[in-house]
Amino acid sequence: MDIARRSFLRGRIGDQPAPFRPPWAKSEAEFAELCSRCGDCVTSCPTGLLTGARGRLPQAVFAPAYCDFCACCVDACQTDALSRTVFPPWQLRAVFSSTCLTHVDVICRTCGEACDAAAILFPPQVGGIARPRLDEEACTGCGECLPVCPTGAIRIGHSVALESHP
Ligand code: SF4
Ligand code: SF4
Ligand code: SF4
Repeated sequence: MDIARRSFLRGRIGDQPAPFRPPWAKSEAEFAELCSRCGDCVTSCPTGLLTGARGRLPQAVFAPAYCDFCACCVDACQTDALSRTVFPPWQLRAVFSSTCLTHVDVICRTCGEACDAAAILFPPQVGGIARPRLDEEACTGCGECLPVCPTGAIRIGHSVALESHP
């Protein structure tokens, strides 16, 4: 696989991370071609996750905003740039960093308590405190765990699983 294609599948365009598109967005190339930049998905989004002025491609910007998968955006899209044929709605997942309090032996499970999908597990550690571990299959990439983290240790990223589902 060439470097450009590998970068695209890893969610990067050139040296830049690819922007997060709304859920149910088609592939970046198809999305850019089909999206009329009308902004209807942006104005339909009740959580404020989607941004982008008329005339620009919409983006999803997390923390504090999140996605509740209400589907208002896909229903508002008249051009099929967002389509229910896309499943799952996106390949985004939570990513944890070393600024998590458990890395300095402070007990915290706030993110796990906020996750409706029960995707954040805290497997017991021998001789240490439990650290968060993501269940990649269960995580929906909703972003609800980001704003509750006291150290900002969680971000949303493109799942590497994209590589096996081009
Ligand atoms: S599914 Fe709902 S909350 Fe999520 S981006 Fe679309 S309109 Fe916003
Ligand atoms: S909420 Fe933040 S600090 Fe607490 S366990 Fe989760 S990632 Fe770590
Ligand atoms: S992004 Fe959503 S589903 Fe994934 S771990 Fe965070 S709260 Fe749970």
